[in-house]
Order: sequence, then structure tokens, then C-alpha cells
Amino acid sequence: MGRLSGKVFVLSAAGQGIGKAVALAAAKEGALVIATDINGDLLKALEGVDGIKTQVLDVTKKDDVEKFAQSIEKIDILFNCAGFVHHGALLDCTEKDWDFSFNLNVKSVFTMCKNFLPKLIAQGTGGSVINMASVASSIKGTVNRCVYSSTKAAIIGLTKSMAADYVKHKIRFNSVCPGTVDTPSLRERMAAQGDAEKAYKDFVARQALGRLAEPSEIASLVVYLASDESSFVTGQEFIIDGGWSM
Ligand code: NAD
Repeated sequence: MGRLSGKVFVLSAAGQGIGKAVALAAAKEGALVIATDINGDLLKALEGVDGIKTQVLDVTKKDDVEKFAQSIEKIDILFNCAGFVHHGALLDCTEKDWDFSFNLNVKSVFTMCKNFLPKLIAQGTGGSVINMASVASSIKGTVNRCVYSSTKAAIIGLTKSMAADYVKHKIRFNSVCPGTVDTPSLRERMAAQGDAEKAYKDFVARQALGRLAEPSEIASLVVYLASDESSFVTGQEFIIDGGWSM
């Protein structure tokens, strides 16, 4: 028996990086995984994997999220992973950048939870909602992460508030706060800085453990929070940052 046997696990941004690693880890632990992403081409890599069904979904499209939620018969775990990293300080961040990041990183979590919570409550069997935050948030001031940190701080607050409101339904809400994880978008951010090798060294230098995280290491934490092993854990933010914030 896997640690998530019999559970239905819905997640966003499963096409690459942390989301993909979580989809694979959850399926390995026996969950029925419904892996969504805006990018259907990326989802192809998960097609045919035992225990995984894929579905194209843009989490910023309210009507699509509503239709998708209606199509899901049962859900036990919701992992809201989608997010975008804007690079820049306050004066580099336009109003458009601000709105884009808040729409994708925060409002999508509001929309997903609005649509799936009634189902979780009606089922009456509790559940686990895990939201992707970051250590670059209310936890640690980080250069060039103005709007990003603001969105991830909002996720920590939103998660705590939902945890307080819905604890009576035995639905647990926690957020995950990674440091730097080696994912395709991180590699793109390094390349965008002009000198990718220097950018890589700078990212590694800020992790006390002296290396970046692998997506599978974040997936291990998400599987724990999804499973009944964490049945007494709610309303918390889980820092997994190689010692960056210690
Ligand atoms: P990534 O940025 O490499 O990939 C993001 C995925 O999200 C892609 O598959 C993309 O197609 C999908 N996506 C983009 N817009 C979407 C939308 N509107 N609807 C649905 N899917 C959409 O992935 P990552 O680096 O693993 O980041 C995943 C999450 O983890 C993000 O919320 C990010 O902020 C957070 N995070 C990442 C790091 C890191 O260092 N990589 C650190 C802390 C937190």
C-alpha cells in the first residue's frame, strides 16, 4: 500500500519542475493523480504513467476552473503549484507585472479553492490543500523579488486563514516555502541574467547546504503534507530552503 493509496490528488502546473515531480511522486505512492497544466505539450511526458490522468487547465481562467472542478467526482488533495517569478525591485515592476503576478500566483489559488472547497466539505471526509509559497515572501527579504515575494506572502496568509475557517471540516491547509529549486524556469532566469554560470554560482552561494534543491526533494514534503502522516498538521508554512533563511 502506498502512502496515498485511494486518494485523489489534483494539482496545477504539473508540466515541469516541482509540479511534475509531485505528480510522479504522488502516483508512486498510490494516488490517482489529476495532473493539470496550461501547456498540453509538457503534459505529454506524464501521459501513460500509471495512476496519472492529464488535463490542460489555465488556472487564471475562472470559467475553465469551474468546469474542471465540476468534472471531478471526488477529491482528497489539492496542490496549487502554479506561479511565476518576476525578476525586479519595486521600481522595475510595472502595474502590469504586478497584476499578472497577483493574478497567477494568488488569485488562481483563490479560484481553485473556491471551486474545490464545496466538494471537499460535501464529501465530509476531510482533505489536504497544499499551496506553493516560497521562502522569498514574508519569511525572507530577497533582492529583485518585489512582486513575487508579495504574492508568496499573500499565499502564506491565505493558507492560514483558510486553515482557521475550515478546520471544523477536518480540511487541512499548509503552504510550502522552498529556497532555490533546479527547475526549467530557474534555468531560464539564470540565462536571462546574461551570465548563466555566474547566476548559478550566486544562487548556490545563498543556500547554506551549498547546492540547489532537486524538485523531488520538494515533492517528498508535499507527499508528507498530502498523506495521513501529517494528520495533525494545519495552518503552517513549511520552509525547505537548504538553510538559506536560518
Ligand atoms: P516552472 O516555473 O519551471 O514551471 C511552471 C509550470 O507552470 C509550467 O509547466 C507552466 O506551463 C505552468 N503554468 C504557467 N502558467 C500557468 C497557468 N496560468 N495555469 C496553469 N499552469 C501554468 O516550475 P517551478 O520552478 O517548479 O515552480 C513551481 C512553483 O514553485 C511556482 O509557484 C514557483 O513560484 C514555486 N517556487 C519555485 C522555486 C524555484 O526555485 N524553482 C522556489 C520557490 C517556489
